[in-house]
Amino acid sequence: MRRPFIAGNWKMNLDMASAVALAKGVAREAEKVEEVDLAVCPPSVYLAAVAQAISGSQVQVGAQNMYHQPKGAFTGEISAAMLVDVGCRYVILGHSERRHILGETDELVNKKVHAALAAGLAPIVCVGETLEEREAGNTLDVIRRQFDGSLAGLSAQQLAGVVIAYEPVWAIGTGKVATPEQAEEVHLDLRKIIQDRYNRRTAEVVRIQYGGSVTPDNARVLLACPNIDGALVGGASLQVESFMGIVAAAG
Ligand code: PEP
Repeated sequence: MRRPFIAGNWKMNLDMASAVALAKGVAREAEKVEEVDLAVCPPSVYLAAVAQAISGSQVQVGAQNMYHQPKGAFTGEISAAMLVDVGCRYVILGHSERRHILGETDELVNKKVHAALAAGLAPIVCVGETLEEREAGNTLDVIRRQFDGSLAGLSAQQLAGVVIAYEPVWAIGTGKVATPEQAEEVHLDLRKIIQDRYNRRTAEVVRIQYGGSVTPDNARVLLACPNIDGALVGGASLQVESFMGIVAAAG
C-alpha cells in the first residue's frame, strides 16, 4: 500500500521569520496526523533554520532544487550533500518553473536525480504538459518523453525511492485544477510506463503526486483517485490552515 505524501513547495516566498513560523505551525498540526507523509520545501537560504525548527517532528524538509556536481567551481549552486548536511530528506527536481523559466532539460534533471539518490535524498521529479501540448493531444507523449529522459538509467530499486509529481503546467498557480479524470488518466499512464520499463512491483510502489492549484476544496476528489498518492502544493502550502486542510483530505 502506498502511503499518501503531501509536500508544500514554498517557491520564492516568505522571509526567515515567517518561514520558521509556518514550518512550526505545520509541525504542530502534524502531531494529529497519522498515515500521511509530510514535507515542506522552503527557499534554500531558509532550509537549515526550518530543519532545525521542526527537527523531531514528523514533517520532513525538502529543497526546491540542487546541482548535480558534488563540489567545486559552480558559483551559486548547492550540492546534494549540502542539502543532506542541513537536514533535507527530499529535493524537488525538474519543476516546470525550472524547466520553462530557467531552461532545465530532461538531461540535466536526470543528472540531478542520480546525484540526489547517490547522496541519500529522495527526489520529487516533476513532469507535466503545457496547455498547447494538451490541446494538441500530446499529453501522454510529453509525459513519456519526460519520464524516459528525466529518469533514465535508474534501477528498479532506485526508482522505488523516487516520487513523481504530475504537474500540468497549465494548472500550476492558475487556479485551473485538472479534473480527477484528467489527472487519473496521466497517473495511470505513468504507472503503466513504470510497469513496461521495470516491473509490476515497482509500478505498485512508486508514489505519484498530483500538483497544480490543489486546495482543501478540491483535494479530496483528486486524492480519492486510485493512482493519485498525494499532492505537491504551491500556493495553498503558504498557510498552515490550507496546507493542513489538504493533508486532512489525504488521511
Ligand atoms: C507547484 O508549484 O508545484 C504548484 C503545484 O503550485 P500551485 O499549487 O500554486 O498551483
